[in-house]
Amino acid sequence: MMPFTQLVLASHNTGKLKELQAMLGDAIRVRSVGEFSSLEPEETGLSFIENAILKARNAAKVSGLPALADDSGLAVDALGGAPGIYSARYADGQGDAANNAKLLATLQGVPQAERGAQFVCALALVRHADDPLPIICEGLWHGRILEEARGEQGFGYDPLFWVPERDCSSAELSPAEKNQLSHRARAMALLRQRLELA
Ligand code: IMP
Repeated sequence: MMPFTQLVLASHNTGKLKELQAMLGDAIRVRSVGEFSSLEPEETGLSFIENAILKARNAAKVSGLPALADDSGLAVDALGGAPGIYSARYADGQGDAANNAKLLATLQGVPQAERGAQFVCALALVRHADDPLPIICEGLWHGRILEEARGEQGFGYDPLFWVPERDCSSAELSPAEKNQLSHRARAMALLRQRLELA
């Protein structure tokens, strides 16, 4: 299923755009929603999937083109899935270090066996703004929240995320290794299959 030659990515992040273009190859030209509008829609959903769909519909609406959006974050079992869709602003917009400090403080005293968590990436692709049948792909990366930060790579919660299959934190993985294992990699692999690019 590849009925289009152009796609708008509902993100202003050029890194994400390059990553997606590389993944989709030459067959589909990836454009940024920023070419069409600088306004970002309100993310009023309660789940990663709902917010990805909202963003994709908005990008399709402002561009008139098929659109892809992603929404990602960290869901901690002991916190009922928090920080979840609020991952980026968990410490009220004070940034990654403050988010990590808040998470460690919140989980203080929680034993190892109860520190399970997953990184989540939801992708939503709509053919047009009112598409009743979006393509939805969700990638989960299961791990555990450490009791202190480890590693210098990556971003966000990576220093606190223990990767059982590699016995290290995700901030101790090289970017290439992380890109093979991560929630984003898993969701992208599913999308490639759905678009019959895999
Ligand atoms: P966004 O999808 O780029 O908006 O990311 C949402 C937030 O989730 C980020 O600000 C991070 O706090 C967190 N997050 C998402 N993916 C990752 C990851 O691969 N490593 C660490 N943190 C992540």
